Amino acid sequence: MKLSEEIFKALRCPKCMAILKSEDALLVCSNNDCKKIFPVINNIPVLINEENSVFRISDFTEMRETYFKTTIVNKNPIKKAIVAFIPSIGKNIKAQENYSNFARKLLSYSSNPKVLILGGSIIGEGMEPLIENPSIILYESDISFGPRTQFILDSHNIPFTNEYFDGVVVQAVLEHVLDPFRCVQEIYRVLKKDGLVYAETPFMQQVHGGRYDFHRFTHLGHRRLFRNFSEIESGAVCGPGMALAWSYKYFIKSFFSSKKTRIPLYPIIHLTSFFLKYFDYYLINKPGTLDAASAYYFCGQKSDFPLEDSELLKLYKGIM
Ligand SMILES: [Zn+2]
Repeated sequence: MKLSEEIFKALRCPKCMAILKSEDALLVCSNNDCKKIFPVINNIPVLINEENSVFRISDFTEMRETYFKTTIVNKNPIKKAIVAFIPSIGKNIKAQENYSNFARKLLSYSSNPKVLILGGSIIGEGMEPLIENPSIILYESDISFGPRTQFILDSHNIPFTNEYFDGVVVQAVLEHVLDPFRCVQEIYRVLKKDGLVYAETPFMQQVHGGRYDFHRFTHLGHRRLFRNFSEIESGAVCGPGMALAWSYKYFIKSFFSSKKTRIPLYPIIHLTSFFLKYFDYYLINKPGTLDAASAYYFCGQKSDFPLEDSELLKLYKGIM
């Protein structure tokens, strides 16, 4: 396996946090009371604590579908052309600017910051300023194999030693985990003192990802989720226009009960609602958007002083 010595030393057993030993193509927990065995598939360690996860290690050794299809490749050129022609109904207005700010902030603390990306099997929307900066060392992880996956892990038990990362990115992930509070605790644990987190989580979005979709957060609910972090910045990333387009799409979809009957409608739905997202350029920073956005972001710094719930209410910036 090609794990560098430094990364190998930072990895931990996701069940008991003991150090791991490398044996043939496997990683083995060094704790005699645990001794869990973790496979390495195509140089990607699969570090899942099965006792605290909806996933099984065999899901990965047997290449079962976990969230994203393992091959998202449309081979039919006609279908490909149709898909390319259909306009998107969503637009993340803020991510690129937020990632630029996040990268700058990381580099003000360290010349080679280590950043863990949760849900990083593919490049997240607007993530280019982070991905393309050669000074930033990325640890791209997910619960599915994708073009960018370096580690298979479940955010409920992040298999890295305490205080290892300068930054953690968790974009469009926390709605898909069973216990987002537990996952944010883990993010807190693996961050260095004063480490930075960047999160994006939906509010007004219908179920996506099928069975792997469990939570939504208001702007304040999202702030509370990160109560052990001091806020650098927060707000909406995708606005009410996108939320309306999604509602319209899912309203129409509700009339049809199978994928086969729904898919032919998508070009019509998208062509009659794609323009709604452009309203978000105007709306994204308005106070009303804090009550109506499709998704919110939070950028924060690990802190020793949790945000009190009584203080939380003072942070409401919507319109009452
Ligand atoms: Zn162990």
